[in-house]
Amino acid sequence: LHDRDGKIWMDGELVDWRDAKIHVLTHTLHYGCGAFEGVRAYETPAGTAIFRLQEHTQRLFNSAKILRMKIPFTPEQVNQAQRDVIKANGLKSGYLRPLTWIGSEKLGVSPKGNKVHLMVAAWAWGAYLGEEGMKRGIRVKTSSFTRHHVNITMTQAKTVSNYTNSILANMEATDDGYDEALLLDASGFVSEGAGENLFVIKNGTVYTPDLSAGALNGITRNTIFHICKDLGLPLVEKRITRDEVYICDEAFFTGTAAEVTPIRELDRVEIGIGSRGPITEKIQKAFFDIVGGQNLKYADWLTVC
Ligand code: PMP
Repeated sequence: LHDRDGKIWMDGELVDWRDAKIHVLTHTLHYGCGAFEGVRAYETPAGTAIFRLQEHTQRLFNSAKILRMKIPFTPEQVNQAQRDVIKANGLKSGYLRPLTWIGSEKLGVSPKGNKVHLMVAAWAWGAYLGEEGMKRGIRVKTSSFTRHHVNITMTQAKTVSNYTNSILANMEATDDGYDEALLLDASGFVSEGAGENLFVIKNGTVYTPDLSAGALNGITRNTIFHICKDLGLPLVEKRITRDEVYICDEAFFTGTAAEVTPIRELDRVEIGIGSRGPITEKIQKAFFDIVGGQNLKYADWLTVC
């Protein structure tokens, strides 16, 4: 990913892709205190548009606030940086990665005395869990790793260090031949995927774990809430157990990268019809209509670059 042509926005400037470098004594590289976002831009009839840009930028600033990091740019500058990066790389659609980190003035656990930096990169990225998975559903394994407790690294912040837990869970699941991991919270209730929120459907009602289970407050998760309302599907946030997932009618993951990915199996237990369920398909279609600019009700969620 590092060796290619293009531009990356770094601390206020568009720099050549290959020159977007940091020092090995960067504080965040040693201690993991940093925050990032994953954002997508889609092709729409009005041109390339970033989906829910304001909400992603707001979450980035919230993550930084939780970590006591002061981003030296305004949200408007961060929004503009993302539009500029899409344009500078000539992308029709793509994935954006804003990241804020602590500099290399000094080491030691206390970050005090270091500068805070910000970068935005963007590149083309198709279906995160595969095109096939979007149609047939993916195979998921309950992780042996517990999801972060809400009083550990702060689960409402999208922090760099939270992802060690996600990496361990994803590697374990994929090494065992599954597509993705599902993590349980410290009390054993369902939390989220390694990089996705979870939804299950039972008897026409849509359920998702409430955020006290340590799941990230996903922006796609919120988009699904709106879609459910539009489709007349009741939606309930509650504690969910692993066996409730085994016996649900349909299940799917959501995320900026994963979009709406159906789940066909958990721990070798087939879910519902063992393929993408009919309600999941409707929700998936509604999602792609919104991000693709086909549903004018949500035109405000699209920022044309
Ligand atoms: N949970 C985790 C752990 C994630 O990494 C992500 C992806 N950002 C999500 C949930 C989904 O969040 P969003 O829909 O905002 O991308």
